[in-house]
Amino acid sequence: MIKTALIVAALAFETPAIWARIAMLGVTPGLPVYIGLYVFLALCLGGAAMIRQPVFRWGWAILFAAATILLGSFQTAAADAMSYETFISMLQSAGFIDDALAQYRGPIAWASANALLLLVGIGLKPASRRLPGILAGSAPFLGLALLSTLLFFRGGEGGRGLPSAWVGSAYSVLYGFESITRSVGPRQPVRIARTRPPAYRDIVLIIDESIAARYLDINDPQGVRSGLASPPSGLSVANFGIAASITDCSFGSNMTLRHGGTRAAYNRINATGPSIFAYAKAAGFRTVYVDAQRTGGAFQNGMDDAERGSIDHFIQFDDTPAANRDMAAAGAVIDALANDRREFILVNKMGAHFPIADKFPDTAAPYQPTLPRGLSADVAEMQLPENLYSGAENWRLYRNSYRNTVAWTVGGFFDRLFAHARLRDALIIYTSDHGQKLHERGDSGTTTHCSVVPVAEEGAVPLVAIDASGRWQAAAKRHFDASSHYRIFPTLLAAMGYDPVAVRRSYGEALDSTAPDPATFNGLFNARLGRQPMWVGVRRAALPAPPASDIAAR
Ligand SMILES: [Zn+2]
Repeated sequence: MIKTALIVAALAFETPAIWARIAMLGVTPGLPVYIGLYVFLALCLGGAAMIRQPVFRWGWAILFAAATILLGSFQTAAADAMSYETFISMLQSAGFIDDALAQYRGPIAWASANALLLLVGIGLKPASRRLPGILAGSAPFLGLALLSTLLFFRGGEGGRGLPSAWVGSAYSVLYGFESITRSVGPRQPVRIARTRPPAYRDIVLIIDESIAARYLDINDPQGVRSGLASPPSGLSVANFGIAASITDCSFGSNMTLRHGGTRAAYNRINATGPSIFAYAKAAGFRTVYVDAQRTGGAFQNGMDDAERGSIDHFIQFDDTPAANRDMAAAGAVIDALANDRREFILVNKMGAHFPIADKFPDTAAPYQPTLPRGLSADVAEMQLPENLYSGAENWRLYRNSYRNTVAWTVGGFFDRLFAHARLRDALIIYTSDHGQKLHERGDSGTTTHCSVVPVAEEGAVPLVAIDASGRWQAAAKRHFDASSHYRIFPTLLAAMGYDPVAVRRSYGEALDSTAPDPATFNGLFNARLGRQPMWVGVRRAALPAPPASDIAAR
C-alpha cells in the first residue's frame, strides 16, 4: 500500500506535462492511445515494484530514478518536454555537468525528490505476492520494449507527457542502438587524388539565404532583377533554372553543401567526410569564408573548431547593418579575386530570411505596398512569430517586401560584383540554401520554410554557374529546371583538380554529368532511427508564379 502511494505520488510530480500533452492532442484518436499507453506504462512500473528478487527490483528502481532526475530536471527547467535530439546533445555535453548543477539547482532538487519517491516506492520489499513472479519480472521489459519500439518508428518523437522514468530509459535504449548501428567514426582526411591542375585560379561558392527560384528574373518573367540576366561581355552566366535544394532548412543544406553528400549517404558523408575547405587547402587553395549572417566569430550551420581550422581567412561584418551586409560580402569577394593568390571562397549571404521588412533601403523599394518598416532593422534572422503574418493581405505585403529585399540583396550584389570583380579566371557557383513558401495560393499559416510537410517551393532554388569560358552553358541547357544542390560539391572538387572518377564514386554526379538528376529535396533531413528521408520533387509546373496582382500601379 505504501509502495503504491509512493509511486502514485512520484507520477503526480509530472501532472503538468500530462495536461500539456492532453491539451496538445485535443479530442482526437491520439488521445485514447496516449492515455492507454500511459496507463500501461504506469502498470508496468507497478509490476517492477512487485519483483521479489531484491537485486532486480532495486536495479530497475535505480534506472527509473536516474532517468527521472535526468529528464525531470531538464523538463522543469525548460518547462517543455525533452526531445530525443536534446537528450543526445545533453549526453554529448556531459562535460558541462558542473555548470548545469550550479545553474539549475532548483529543478534538479525537484526532480531528485520525484526520483527518490520512485526509488523507494519500487525498491521497498513488496508485502504480498499478488502478482505471479514471471509477470512482475517481465513487466519492465515489456514497457521498455513497447516504448522504445514506438519511439524508434517515430524517429524519437512521441515521449511527451509520458513518465520521465520510461522516456529516459527508452531514450537510453535508442541511443545504445544508434551507437552500435550508426558507427560513424571520426572525420576523415582528404584521400582523393588530384589528377590535373585546378581548372580556375579562384573558385567561389555563394550560398544565398531564402531565395525563391521563381522570384528571380532569370527564372520567371515576373521575377525581380537578379543582376544575372545580362552579364557584362566576356562573362557567361549558365542558368540551370529552378533546381532542388538539399533540404528545406538552412542547417542541412549548408552542412551538405560544405561536406558533400549523396541522397543515399548524406548522413555518413556529413559526419565523416572532409569539408570543402579541407579539400581546397589540400589542393593548394587559400580558403576564405565570408559570413554575412553571423557576427562576433559565431559559427553556424554545423561548423566547428575543426572545420574552422581549415579556413585561412574568416570574415564577418560585425559593424555593418543587416541591410548592407551583402554589399559588404560583395566587397570581400571583389578583394579576394583582385589578388593573384589561388583561393577558394565560400559566401554565406544575408539574403532574404525573415524578418525582411527592413533588409532594403528606403531608396530601393520599387515594389509597393510593403510591410510596415522600422521594426526589425537590426535583426538578421528570427523565427516567424505565430500569427504575425497570416492572412492573404499580409502575405501580399510580405511578398512585396520580399521582392524589394531580393532586388537589393541579389540584384545589388551581382551588380556590384560584375562591375568591380576580376572574373577572368574564376568559377562562381550561385544558389540559395532553400526556397520559400510565400503563400501565393492564399494558403494559411505562418511558415516560409522548414515545414514539417514541405511543399515544392520550399526546396526550389536558383542555380547558376558563372565563368568566362562559357563551358557550363551546355550542361545548364541539358539540365534546365532539372538539377540539384547534390551536384555542386562534386563539381567544386573536380574544378579543384580532384580525380573526377573518384569524386563521382564518393559524392555522385557533377553539374556537367550527362545523367539525369531526380531534382528532389529532402523534407526530413534529420531522418534517424526508423524514419527515412522524404523526397519532394521540384517541378516548375507545381510552383506558383510571383503574382503580378501583388504590386500596386504607381
Ligand atoms: Zn536558410
